[in-house]
Amino acid sequence: MPSSISTLPSVRDLLSHAVEAVGGAEREGQVRMAEAVAKAIRTGEHLAVQAGTGTGKSLAYLVPAIRYAVEHEATVVVSTATIALQRQLVDRDLPRLAKALKKPLGREPTFAILKGRRNYLCMHRVHTGAPEEPEDTGLFDAFAVSRIGREVKRLHEWSSDTETGDRDELVPGVSEQAWRQVSVTARECLGVARCPVGTDCFAERARGEAGRADVVVTNHALLAIDALQEYQVLPEHDLVVIDEAHELVDRVTSVATSELTTSLISAATRRCGRLIDADIADRLLEAGDGLALVLDDLPPGRMDTLPTPLGGALTVVRDAAHGCLTALGSERKEDIEEATARKLARSLLDEVHDTAVRLLDAFDEDQAHRQDVVWLSGDQYSASPRPPALHVAPLSVGGLLRERVFARSTTVLTSATLALGGAFDTLARQWGLPPSPKPTVKAEGTATDKPAPSDDDGPRWSGLDVGSPFDYRKHGILYVAKHLPPPGRDGLGERTLDEIAELIDAAGGRALGLFSSMRAAKQATEELRDRVKHPILCQGDDSTSLLVSKFADDPRTCLFGTLSLWQGVDVPGPSLQLVIVDRLPFPRPDDPVSSARQRAVEARGGNGFLTVAATHAALLLAQGTGRLHRSVTDKGVVAVLDSRLATARYGGFLRASLPPLWPTHDPKVARDALRRLDAAAPA
Ligand code: SF4
Repeated sequence: MPSSISTLPSVRDLLSHAVEAVGGAEREGQVRMAEAVAKAIRTGEHLAVQAGTGTGKSLAYLVPAIRYAVEHEATVVVSTATIALQRQLVDRDLPRLAKALKKPLGREPTFAILKGRRNYLCMHRVHTGAPEEPEDTGLFDAFAVSRIGREVKRLHEWSSDTETGDRDELVPGVSEQAWRQVSVTARECLGVARCPVGTDCFAERARGEAGRADVVVTNHALLAIDALQEYQVLPEHDLVVIDEAHELVDRVTSVATSELTTSLISAATRRCGRLIDADIADRLLEAGDGLALVLDDLPPGRMDTLPTPLGGALTVVRDAAHGCLTALGSERKEDIEEATARKLARSLLDEVHDTAVRLLDAFDEDQAHRQDVVWLSGDQYSASPRPPALHVAPLSVGGLLRERVFARSTTVLTSATLALGGAFDTLARQWGLPPSPKPTVKAEGTATDKPAPSDDDGPRWSGLDVGSPFDYRKHGILYVAKHLPPPGRDGLGERTLDEIAELIDAAGGRALGLFSSMRAAKQATEELRDRVKHPILCQGDDSTSLLVSKFADDPRTCLFGTLSLWQGVDVPGPSLQLVIVDRLPFPRPDDPVSSARQRAVEARGGNGFLTVAATHAALLLAQGTGRLHRSVTDKGVVAVLDSRLATARYGGFLRASLPPLWPTHDPKVARDALRRLDAAAPA
């Protein structure tokens, strides 16, 4: 990072100025975080910083990042996991901050949002229409076809109104099938130089604006694509801030996962059919049919060895796709229609070929040294059948992040949940950072700042926990139902349902039920709707955002649901005073990626369960617990009805990952507290 004597105000002064301008108060954790980010920028040492809800962490990283960008005429990348945070940064934080910092910085800082090409309307595709898509083969449902037709018509109308072409700005949204017909992947894009409407291209415009901006807000998926691809997707940058960093590994893993289906092979064949010799295209179609027959005979699940018939079928697919690619030839001078058809065909053929190669290669090494895990999904015999699909995912993304993110830019990783079991090491290992010799231990409710100098074998980094302005011990109880039997496989037991009913009655509603499966959420809803006198909403009854706003509007209403609610509910005030967790959120034992990761850790002599499954549970449990306190005045109870949190050996690790609530095993203490809060809440 360049260093020079700066004429700009210090980060501390800029932060005070910004906080005053947006009408806030100075917070100790925010100042400490801003100074640590400034130090990371100065020294080039990566930083992991845990900042609890209420710290004001976006200002704490944006102020030093903007200062750096303005001083050095550089672009800084800020990456988020969710659209909600992206919107908050672009619609609220950055506009206010840009105005506030204009005077002290001498000019107004600029910002832009950048997403993957697939997120923008492709005007070339809008003008020329779409070729057949992979999903088309499955669309025998006339209703679905006409719905998609109506959506595509709406997208065409929208194309003349929108200024950004950004899918997220289309309200209400459209189905994936409809969107595919008006968008392209980076592989399918003709390239701005060849495209007849390249000057009007939304994706290119967004890229251009991003290249000129001081701050570019993007998502973890695009950050991963930028790391994976040889070509540059994000503007040149040497500082990246990864917010919601607890999601980084999952998001990068899903970008690095490939999928092969027979409908993808059929679509590739159709796309190249009229461009090459029919015999060569037919060979690919037959290879797809052969693969379909083999997949029909295989059980879904993780594959530790390559079944011989599957190996044979994949080899035939790989060679047939290669034959089509060779017949398609390299790019040549041709009219734009021909060039478009060739580009679209090549993109799918490449996908089929490369995935077949990767699937075959995945079994080359002995199990202990494999890089990828392969599994078959799909269920043709269920009420909502899904066709078989082969997936191949990386066992670790640490190497990729280390070589393509940490080696290129100073990186600040932040979230309310990073120090699992009180230390950053668990997540640092997953990110590809070396272990810290001195773990950063969180003192209860206070911030600790123990630099964690790295060894010589990897990027240098330090960890910092700035705590939270919330007084968790005074404002919250962690009630663990130690007296209940450990949860079984057959749904929620009667005693657990009784506990939920009693807790909700004591709280007067106001409950968010976070269940480990949709099945459990539905069972609890059905069985308790008649037993408690307060309304219960269940995820899936309506759109999640509508359910959350109904829940927030009526304090007596309860909301039950699963995964997206663990992280996505932000309801301050008396509508949410009770969070119920039915069981510890371990990954399912048959989850192919976590089970393979667990085994890989064990093969290296580590504790697979603690490293993979307990880490996953700790992250989610901390996120779920965090739903209770959204403002300084929020009070309530987190009730964990899984006794293993109190009794199991790993319980201490999980509890140390949570905010420091006041602990109890006594149900009466929890219910009495809820009754008092209910009585004190505004009518
Ligand atoms: S440049 Fe690519 S994305 Fe843009 S309009 Fe042309 S084909 Fe579509």
